[in-house]
Amino acid sequence: MTLTPTLSSDGSKALLVLGGGLMGLAIAHQLARRGRPVRVISRNRKEAAGFGAAGMLAPHAEGLTGDLLRLGQASLARIPGWVAQIEADSGLNCGHRPCGIVVPFQTSAERDAYPTAPWGTPLDRGGLEREIPGIGPRWQAGLLFEQDGQIDNRRQLMWALERACAGLGVAFEEGCSATGLVRDAHGRLAAVDLLDAAGAQRRQLACEQAVLSCGAWSAQLLPELPVFPVKGQMLSLQGPQQALQRVVFGPGTYLVPRDDGLIVVGATSEPKAGFAEGLTPFGQQQLEAGIAALLPAAAQWPPMERWWGYRPGTPDEGPLLGASPIEGLWLATGHYRNGVLLAAITAELLADAISGDGYSAEQQQLLETFDWRRFNLRRATPDRRGSSR
Ligand SMILES: Cc1cc2nc3c(=O)[nH]c(=O)nc-3n(C[C@H](O)[C@H](O)[C@H](O)COP(=O)(O)OP(=O)(O)OC[C@H]3O[C@@H](n4cnc5c(N)ncnc54)[C@H](O)[C@@H]3O)c2cc1C
Repeated sequence: MTLTPTLSSDGSKALLVLGGGLMGLAIAHQLARRGRPVRVISRNRKEAAGFGAAGMLAPHAEGLTGDLLRLGQASLARIPGWVAQIEADSGLNCGHRPCGIVVPFQTSAERDAYPTAPWGTPLDRGGLEREIPGIGPRWQAGLLFEQDGQIDNRRQLMWALERACAGLGVAFEEGCSATGLVRDAHGRLAAVDLLDAAGAQRRQLACEQAVLSCGAWSAQLLPELPVFPVKGQMLSLQGPQQALQRVVFGPGTYLVPRDDGLIVVGATSEPKAGFAEGLTPFGQQQLEAGIAALLPAAAQWPPMERWWGYRPGTPDEGPLLGASPIEGLWLATGHYRNGVLLAAITAELLADAISGDGYSAEQQQLLETFDWRRFNLRRATPDRRGSSR
């Protein structure tokens, strides 16, 4: 098989982004803004969790702790600037709403023990009713996280990112799968094996650098990675406009109100489902029971859509960011249930690392914390040459 170098119009080699979901698009966008030629290899944009997610920006409401909370807070702080860049480059609105998130509890003791309670405003039953009119009777206490919010990933952000990338000259190979990583005699990344949409044509694309951002499918390309799918089922309801101003984040179910009254409801968590496709009666009933418990009136609102997606899980629920076991290959995967929140910091860290622009102390610390080596992966050795599949 002959190697075909990816030569961009100015003659320099393009960086390959493997996976055109949320991380792939976000990183391609930041690199393109820095003038770097980028080519995105994208098997199927529609299967991306970036489309399936609820779009909550919820480091506090989710009760994150430790390094993951720090990463989430760093990304949350960057979201307004990141969104402004995407909106300026695309001409499209991303649907960012810093609307605040309410977490309801059955007792004030549960509320006070919540890991992120110090970042929230405590609510009693009266406060809960003011924030979430019509909230179910079982909830007696709550925490309001004014700083958390949401972004309309499904209808706005993903489209805006794609448009922003295209406008900056990012090349897309849509419907194309990366099927293997090819290394040279020194173990460095040399090329990527590709398969076209129809599965009829195989080829290799030479590259010196690539980013692995295949979401829940990442370990199919690099089996050393401890990344696995955690399926989530979702649905949406059409509520009256302004019926709900804040996101409600209950145990097992959350309600995310968009501007036009659409309420996105999530989500099941099915780590044993693997990549099993489709909705299940049990999963949908779970969501419906959650709606009735959180906001009884919403159980009467008409359902609009039902869908599912795969979160890229990792053993410690934190992402893999930065260098990989293969020189020339960068990692941006394993964002589990917080990828929308973490997209801003991920794109910044990866673009800075790849561009060699240097890091701030904060960036350096985050890259060290979320380095793949924390899982003691088997290091790829130079004798494992050729395709890794
Ligand atoms: C139900 C659900 C609800 C969620 N809710 C939230 C939320 O409220 N807030 C939040 O912050 N996060 C949420 N998430 C998590 C978030 O969606 C993910 O963490 C994030 O989308 C991961 O982005 P990614 O780019 O790594 O993966 P994806 O967005 O899944 O993209 C991966 C892409 O890679 C492509 N691909 C895979 N293999 C190959 C290959 N070999 N070659 C080429 N392309 C390939 C796929 O086709 C896909 O398009 C949710 C996820 C789910 C499933």
